[in-house]
Amino acid sequence: MDYFGSHISRLIEALCGLPGVGQKTAQRLAFHIINMPKEQVQALADALVDARTNANYCRECFTLTDDELCPICRSEKRDHRQIMVVETPRDLAAYERTGRYDGVYHVLHGAISPMLGIGPNEIRLKELMQRLQGPDGQPACDEVIIATNASLEGETTAMYILKLIRTLGLDIKVTRIASGVPVGGDIENTDEVTLERALVGRTEM
Ligand code: ZN
Repeated sequence: MDYFGSHISRLIEALCGLPGVGQKTAQRLAFHIINMPKEQVQALADALVDARTNANYCRECFTLTDDELCPICRSEKRDHRQIMVVETPRDLAAYERTGRYDGVYHVLHGAISPMLGIGPNEIRLKELMQRLQGPDGQPACDEVIIATNASLEGETTAMYILKLIRTLGLDIKVTRIASGVPVGGDIENTDEVTLERALVGRTEM
């Protein structure tokens, strides 16, 4: 039954199914939007379309960015011989908030999960391996810090990356962030102090 009329129902339907947005939240958001000034709604709509149209993946680290290279990969102040591997751009943002990491990143966009049918080819692993191999067969970095989540998927992914690096015979130090991040916990929801401790206390795999 269509209680609200087709325009509002269409908006609710469009919002429903976004991550964390169920029917009730979608209704709440829709009614909020309808009560917003028209210019604000237009600005929101423009921002959505603009972000979707203009966001790219950085060609080095695969985080989301406006340009070919993200500001971190472009920066000469960052240590390009140290690469931290994270699952999502949100994890990258969490580590940037600590202000204590001056290396660069590699964003996998997920983790290996046999249960969800996500294999090594579904995440940006091939790109990582290509990146680690310098043009002259020498390793392109000194250290890979694996900062995937402390979940089953995150641990599986960490072990897989270590295996790949060793199979390639690359002489790169591979470290794993310390278990300051709660087991099963998400990096993006972990506070800065804990993240910094996890980074400082990282151990060689
Ligand atoms: Zn980048």
